[in-house]
Amino acid sequence: MHDRKSAPFEDYLHELLESLKPLDAGEVASYIPELAKASPDGCAISFATIDGEVYSVGDSETLFSIQSVSKPFAYAGALMRLGQEALLKKVGVEPTGDAFNSIVLDEVNNRPFNPMVNAGAIAVSALSEGDSQSERWAHVVDLFSRFAGRRLTHDNSVFLSESATGHRNRAIAYLMLNTGMIDRDPEEVLDLYFKQCALLVSTPDLALMGATLANNGVHPRTGEVLLGPAEVRDVLTLMMSCGMYDYAGEWSYEVGLPAKSGVSGGVLAILPGQLSIAVWSPPLDEIGNSVRGIAACRRISGDFGLHQFMNAATVETVVRRETRASAQPSMRIRNPRERDLLATHGGQIGLVELQGALYLASAERMIRQLQDLTSSVSHLVFDMRRLRSVDAAAQRFFESFLRGLADRNVEVAFAEVHSAGGAAAPVLTKIAEACAIRVFTNVDGAVEVYEERLLETVREPFDATRYGLGNLELFKGLNRAQLRMVEAMIQPMQFEANDYVLRRGRPGTMAFVIARGSVSVMVPNASGDNIRVACIGPGQFFGEMAVLEGGLRSTDIVADEKVVCYGLSAEHLKELSVSDPEAHSVILTNMVLEFSNRLRRSNDIIGSLQ
Ligand code: GLN
Repeated sequence: MHDRKSAPFEDYLHELLESLKPLDAGEVASYIPELAKASPDGCAISFATIDGEVYSVGDSETLFSIQSVSKPFAYAGALMRLGQEALLKKVGVEPTGDAFNSIVLDEVNNRPFNPMVNAGAIAVSALSEGDSQSERWAHVVDLFSRFAGRRLTHDNSVFLSESATGHRNRAIAYLMLNTGMIDRDPEEVLDLYFKQCALLVSTPDLALMGATLANNGVHPRTGEVLLGPAEVRDVLTLMMSCGMYDYAGEWSYEVGLPAKSGVSGGVLAILPGQLSIAVWSPPLDEIGNSVRGIAACRRISGDFGLHQFMNAATVETVVRRETRASAQPSMRIRNPRERDLLATHGGQIGLVELQGALYLASAERMIRQLQDLTSSVSHLVFDMRRLRSVDAAAQRFFESFLRGLADRNVEVAFAEVHSAGGAAAPVLTKIAEACAIRVFTNVDGAVEVYEERLLETVREPFDATRYGLGNLELFKGLNRAQLRMVEAMIQPMQFEANDYVLRRGRPGTMAFVIARGSVSVMVPNASGDNIRVACIGPGQFFGEMAVLEGGLRSTDIVADEKVVCYGLSAEHLKELSVSDPEAHSVILTNMVLEFSNRLRRSNDIIGSLQ
């Protein structure tokens, strides 16, 4: 049974193929006698996505000689080997407005006009790598096979046929020898060029070759890096301006995609960053382009609005959310005094969540949008997890924006850089290094550090080991005798950094009050990673839920540093309810008050996430 990969795509291609059938204009090329044998009814269309999926309809298994569709790839190979500067000395980049086999040369610059017409392509062949003719041919086959992702062969009868009749190309080669544009035996050069044109491909092959250009030079299936982004840009530019010979202007105007056609009836069009389209149908119009190939590309471009100048992305804001630590404090559980201090001063810590792509215009908008916030904070935390990319322009402006903040003594932190998009993370790391920005794993860690920084300036550090039990929130309101009773019940304990104080799922028999140090409350998220949802410090209690419910621990609790705490067992608490119901009720009331504070904080966080 036929395996339907993406039914809407396949349905579209079938319908497109049907719509091409009635177009019976054009003539199969016959100046290369062997090409005249092609069936005028043969027709195939393939789409290849940049992740290597190929959709084909029609005679997609038919092999045909690649002819001029080879030109961008031969040029790409030369570009990789010789570099742009050296290559420009030999072949120009100017459209001719003439036919593909034009014999006109750019004698001012002493080079053929461009590599998409025969003269330029022959000049590219003259630059082939290798010491012998067989070595040079082996390199050509290798290059094209890499682009196709499979071993290609050539059609020797097409080669011999063109070699026997290609006198115009011969004239072009000799003319270039005469003017010093090529400096090797023209017969050898032509031999290589004709064989290259005779390489056999199907539309799925061509589509995959094109998908490599659409995919920034990386073969979608083999993963081989065949071109760098700059070479892809150069090749696509030439395809756009010169790929369709003297039809190039009208093609750019109407279809607006970089493309290349050949006399055997192939047309390859590229939609950069998305996919490529390969069409094969031998009958040609007067200019030498496949009639159905052109019609198919025009229709595809029109149906989907693919013209490269039509879908310019409009700038979307990259600032997903901006807030302050006063509205969205860290997960650290605070005592009432700290809470008050942070409600007053937390506004000095700004939080910005970025999303999407940072490029010239979106970076400009981001900087403008953040002006109010940045002019009124002393600390700023960027949450990068939803940022997808940062281009060179954005990097430059982001860096100068950050330097401006440093000059105004605003301390900046990046968080979640590692979870940013693959294209963004390395650039953000570079920016952080260049601007001496501290990088935190998560936002909460950064906010907490800055909160501590603010609190340090306004409060004494609290160390309950130096105070009596009565200073602890949980025991506030107990009289001396009651405190002495509690003192006899509690059990002092000590933990080292990273020790588990409690483990999820274990029975809970004891509640804890922290005297010194802090612990983190860890909860598994949907993907099973333990994430930190709260931090509990001196004077605060934890582990009370399982004790009250008599059930199992709901979270892991891990010591952040050396921790001193007191344990109060469920049994002791029960004893107290009998021996001193008043003390028992004071402790429970303290717990309930703290619960309601924590719930309020959770509600605020939930609200701020909406
Ligand atoms: N081999 C053919 C030639 O040189 C290629 C031309 C083409 O496909 N337009 O004439």
